[in-house]
Amino acid sequence: PLSFSDPSEDHRICVCVRKRPLNKKEIAKKEIDVITIPEKGLLLVHEPKQKVDLTKYLDNQTFRFDYSFDDSATNEMVYRFTARPLVQKIFEGSMATCFAYGQTGSGKTHTMGGDFCGKSQNSSKGIYAFAARDVFMLLSQPRYSILGLEPYVSFFEIYNGKVFDLLNKKAKLRVLEDSKQQVQVVGLQERQVASADDVIKVIDIGSACRTSGQTFANSSSSRSHAILQIVLRRRGKLHGKFSLVDLAGNERGADVCSSDRQTLVEGAEINRSLLALKECIRALGQNQTHTPFRMSKLTQVLRDSFIGENSRTCMIAMISPGINSCEYTLNTLRYADRVK
Ligand code: ADP
Ligand code: MG
Repeated sequence: PLSFSDPSEDHRICVCVRKRPLNKKEIAKKEIDVITIPEKGLLLVHEPKQKVDLTKYLDNQTFRFDYSFDDSATNEMVYRFTARPLVQKIFEGSMATCFAYGQTGSGKTHTMGGDFCGKSQNSSKGIYAFAARDVFMLLSQPRYSILGLEPYVSFFEIYNGKVFDLLNKKAKLRVLEDSKQQVQVVGLQERQVASADDVIKVIDIGSACRTSGQTFANSSSSRSHAILQIVLRRRGKLHGKFSLVDLAGNERGADVCSSDRQTLVEGAEINRSLLALKECIRALGQNQTHTPFRMSKLTQVLRDSFIGENSRTCMIAMISPGINSCEYTLNTLRYADRVK
């Protein structure tokens, strides 16, 4: 169980898809499941047997990804194939990122932060927590313990192009770039952590801060990107960093016909950041010298992760299986397909 990454499969970019199960509402509406995953990397969006005029969206489309997880996959299984190899990388000095992408309700927060049982989130069963446990497991191994690495955690949100600290009552923070293009979030709280349980406590504080004062129907969390960073320092200097990003719902970026000005502005900003993200990941995959990280605040604060030979990234595209989500699902799959 301690073998982390197979060196022969050491790609800089990994793109996966996760399909969640139909939920109670969808089942009550007798929605049909239009997604099939016949094998590991393959995914099919197929035309329903029932006669519905959706032919403009559906023509039995096939997509291929590094992995496709069906609704029987657990968070732990998804973690194993996505974020886990990157944990090892930050010990070797990499800047790694893992993104959860998809429409609101598709399972981004469930996958990253843990499933909700009743009202509270089971944060010990999300990718954040699994990554934290492996960080401490590796820290205790002799080959890494001699390095004297110290782990820190920060947690912040980007909403409408502005950065808010989730570990400091959503304090608004400035982002500065110096003459060497080093990007810094000024005043961002970094908590030193001594165990995986410490990290889980920090996640709970940040998650509660993220969702405070909002109702489910109008949740601002679907309109913001949340970034948890696990930072390894050695004698105070940055050694490696893992950024785990729960992205804003991609349908918000497509919302360009709202009559509400605020919604329009938010949508345009989300659109811009998701576009910038796609361009930066593509630049990383193609070893381009120019990375357009200044296109958005999201990519600007993640600059380190897109520049440099050691950068690694993983995208998990979340999809809802129901036919009523089909249009968004196809948008998500096309986006993920372009990132590869
Ligand atoms: P998002 O963050 O993308 O808006 P959530 O993670 O909040 O979506 O998921 C929406 C709902 O679906 C939640 O109630 C969540 O528990 C449930 N859900 C998401 N993914 C799964 C899954 N793989 N298995 C079971 N329930 C899921
Ligand atoms: Mg969410």
